[in-house]
Amino acid sequence: KVQTETPHFLILPWLAPGHLIPTTDIARLLAMHNAAVTIITTPVNAARIKPTIDRSNAASAGNISLVSLYFPATEVGLPEGCENIDLVPSMPLVYNFYEATKLFRQQVLRYIHERAPHVSCIIGGMGYVWAVDVAHELGVPCFIFHGFGSFALYCSEILHKTKAHEVPSAEPFIIPGLPFEFKIARKELPMHFQQSKENKDIGEEMRNYELAVDGVLVNSFEHLEPGYAGLLQKLSGKKVFSIGPVSVCNTKMMDMEERGNKPTVSTDRCIQWLDSKKHNSVVYVSFGSTGSFAPKQFKELGLGLLASQWPFVWVIKDIEKLPEETLIWLHENFEDKNNSRSLLIKGWAPQIAILSHPAVGGFVTHCGWNSTLESVAAGVPVVAWPLYSEQFLNVKLIVDVLKIGVSVGAREAMAFRGDKEDGIRVSKEDVVKAIEKLMTGEEERKRVAQLKEKAEMALEKGGSSFLNLESLIQFVAP
Ligand code: UDP
Repeated sequence: KVQTETPHFLILPWLAPGHLIPTTDIARLLAMHNAAVTIITTPVNAARIKPTIDRSNAASAGNISLVSLYFPATEVGLPEGCENIDLVPSMPLVYNFYEATKLFRQQVLRYIHERAPHVSCIIGGMGYVWAVDVAHELGVPCFIFHGFGSFALYCSEILHKTKAHEVPSAEPFIIPGLPFEFKIARKELPMHFQQSKENKDIGEEMRNYELAVDGVLVNSFEHLEPGYAGLLQKLSGKKVFSIGPVSVCNTKMMDMEERGNKPTVSTDRCIQWLDSKKHNSVVYVSFGSTGSFAPKQFKELGLGLLASQWPFVWVIKDIEKLPEETLIWLHENFEDKNNSRSLLIKGWAPQIAILSHPAVGGFVTHCGWNSTLESVAAGVPVVAWPLYSEQFLNVKLIVDVLKIGVSVGAREAMAFRGDKEDGIRVSKEDVVKAIEKLMTGEEERKRVAQLKEKAEMALEKGGSSFLNLESLIQFVAP
């Protein structure tokens, strides 16, 4: 039960795995700091995170309520149960999905008025453009959680101010105002910088939302992106609270293995397999909750992994979309012959349990911000292979600023989701070269090990993220 004097955070996690997962960690951290939390989501998503929330409640004072409300998917022409961006069947339907999230507002409002009168603050997920109006109607502050890091948010802020959405899509241009030269093309930027009519509308609504909120929550820590939270605060005029890496609150194996989804393999099997490998010898290959490739690129990546000398864990999404011949090739080359050298996970991997294993020495990643932070928190350097959203911004931070990874040729790597072209952008040779460089390089490994230590310290009592969590709570309920 929420006491009136306890600060009460109402969280609306954006309906995507990469948002839902860190949000459950944020809820846990807030509860550990004695705040009350209500997470409002949809039935499909509530089922995915319920085990995590139950464990968090068992570990802390039981202060997190998980509320599941009807989501009007079918009203806008989406299949029943399509309650998360990773379940949307095709790109054009993403816009219908946004429509449904707008209709969802009515459910949320009714719930707040009838059942949650003592809200002190709303934490709104990135696409819930109406969250700030609801908060201000209630007379409470609203914080936005984009799921991006401070560097990416700072670059986005500059790009908004310099009207980057008006430049040609494919021509790389320099982002002004950064302490180094950084060239990027508009098509490498998040969706709201793209120019289709629907993207423009969504982009404008999101920008208005960003401009109206009282502050920004960032899953990051001060040492990781030195100065960028401050620069973002100055440029945006919004309070910025860096409170991560939030995944660090998952210290028990049970918390690590089921986070946001049920793994398709048993964690025990992964650990056993990893136990048989040498320290820092395994490459973990995964492209986030939704990242997948068309068949030719998929096979080329596989050939690169086979040609490199290192054992690897390869997480494969959307396997049902691959043609029969690719599946046969996969079976013959990986499951039959190379059983001891490769572990394939077709579906959902227990990512942080794998990354935390001492045998894992490198991570081939799309540079989603959660994966980036989880790699840092585990002290694992990365091969950066960006696909979409703010990942091209993250690569700059990872490879050139922090120097904790190597890139597979950021520009060639582009393979946007929904890209119909079945071509090869990153060759087998590029894959081998990047993996060799990473696995044999000492510098990246040393630097990421130092950051791992700082990451842990940030969330310990008196650490920067710990103190930022305290000031967030103070801000909300002085
Ligand atoms: N994840 C996981 N198992 C998988 C794929 C992803 O546990 O098989 C988790 C991963 O640990 C991270 C999140 O899903 O917390 C993905 O977020 P990220 O920002 O890296 O990428 P996105 O999915 O948003 O593109």
